[in-house]
Amino acid sequence: MVIAPCANGRVHPETDELVAFGRRLQALRAGAIGVCIVGGDVNVAAREIAQRHSVPVTAIQAAGFSHYLSEPYVAVLTEEIEAVKPAFVCAPHTSQGWEWAPAVAARIGAGCICGVDGITECQGRLCFQKELYGGKVKGLFSVSTTTTVISVMPGIFTIKPAPPPCPPGPVTYKEAAWRPAQTRYVGTRQAGVDASDITAAPIIVAVGNGIGSPENIALANRLARRLPKAAVAGTRVVCDRGWLGYDRQVGISGASVAPALYIACGISGASQHVMGMRGARFVIAINTDPRAPIFNEADICIVEDIIRFIPLIEEACGRLAEGTKEAIDVR
Ligand SMILES: Cc1cc2nc3c(=O)[nH]c(=O)nc-3n(C[C@H](O)[C@H](O)[C@H](O)COP(=O)(O)OP(=O)(O)OC[C@H]3O[C@@H](n4cnc5c(N)ncnc54)[C@H](O)[C@@H]3O)c2cc1C
Repeated sequence: MVIAPCANGRVHPETDELVAFGRRLQALRAGAIGVCIVGGDVNVAAREIAQRHSVPVTAIQAAGFSHYLSEPYVAVLTEEIEAVKPAFVCAPHTSQGWEWAPAVAARIGAGCICGVDGITECQGRLCFQKELYGGKVKGLFSVSTTTTVISVMPGIFTIKPAPPPCPPGPVTYKEAAWRPAQTRYVGTRQAGVDASDITAAPIIVAVGNGIGSPENIALANRLARRLPKAAVAGTRVVCDRGWLGYDRQVGISGASVAPALYIACGISGASQHVMGMRGARFVIAINTDPRAPIFNEADICIVEDIIRFIPLIEEACGRLAEGTKEAIDVR
C-alpha cells in the first residue's frame, strides 16, 4: 500500500518513486500494489496516479484536509490500513512521512523502518537497508509483524511510470468524517528562498557542522572570494542553525547543484546532502574523520582540520593570483 503525498490537489513526484519501490517489493514477494491518497481535494490526483501507473487507487477526501496535519492524517490512515491489512505500507521519508509513519505503525502495532534506501534477500528473509551513524554503515533490518510501515528515502528508486497503452487502474472514492480535535492549521509562511546564487556558481565552497561556529563561516567566505565566481553553500545543519540562509542549503530539501568544483568542508556526507551535490564534476572533501562518507564522493580526500586548512588554501590561491606560480607548500 503506497501512501501518495499530495499538495494542493496535485500529485507529488515522490509518488512515482514509492510505486517503483512497491514494484521492487513485488519482484521479491508476490502481491498487488495499491495506492492511497488522503487530502482535501484528491480526486483528480487519484485519477492521474491510476492512469500513470495502472494501479488501483483509493482517494480519501475530507473537507478539513486542505493542509497536512498529522493528527487527522494519522487517524484516517490508521482506519484505512486496518481495513486493507497490507503487508507493507510505503511512505515517503520526508518531513511529513517521517512524522506520520511511526505514529501509524505504533497505533496498529506494526513494525516500522524509517529512511530505507535498499531492499535485499538475506537467508530467505526480506531485508530493508538504511544508513546508520551518519552514513558510515549500512544496516539491514527485517520484521516479523503482519504489517510493516516503511518510509522510503527520496531520490533512490527509479521512476518507472506505466507505458501509455496500459489501462488505468480503478479508483475508489471515500469520504473521511474525522475532524481534528486538538490541532488546527494556522498558516504557511513562505521562506522566500532564492537559490540562484549556488545553482549557477561554477565553484562552491560548502560548509558543514565541522565549521564549528558561525564566526568560522567567514573562513569559507574569504576562500570563496579568492576563487572565480565561487559561492558559499552549506548543509542543512548549518542552515537550521541560522549560520547560512536556507537559500544556501544543498540537498534533497535544499538545492541541487552541478558546479565544476565542489569543496566540501567539514561535511559528513549524509545521503540527503550528497543527493544535492551529485552533479558536481570535481569534489574536494576536507574532514578530520578518515572514514567520513563524503570521501566516497570525493576526487581528492583531505584528512585535516578545516579551521587550519581553509586559510592555507586561501593563502595558496592568493599566491597563485599574485602570479608567483611557484610550487605551493600547504603543509
Ligand atoms: C528528510 C530529511 C531531509 C534532509 N535534507 C537535507 C538537505 O537537504 N541537506 C543536508 O545537508 N542535509 C539534509 N538532511 C540532514 C542530513 O541527514 C544530515 O544530518 C546533514 O547533512 C549533516 O550535516 P553535516 O555534514 O554538516 O553535519 P555532521 O553530520 O555533524 O558532520 C560534520 C562532519 O564534520 C567533520 N568535522 C568536525 N570537525 C571538523 C573539523 N574541524 N575539520 C574538518 N572536519 C570536521 C566530522 O568528522 C563530520 O564528518 C536531511 C535529513 C532528513 C531526515
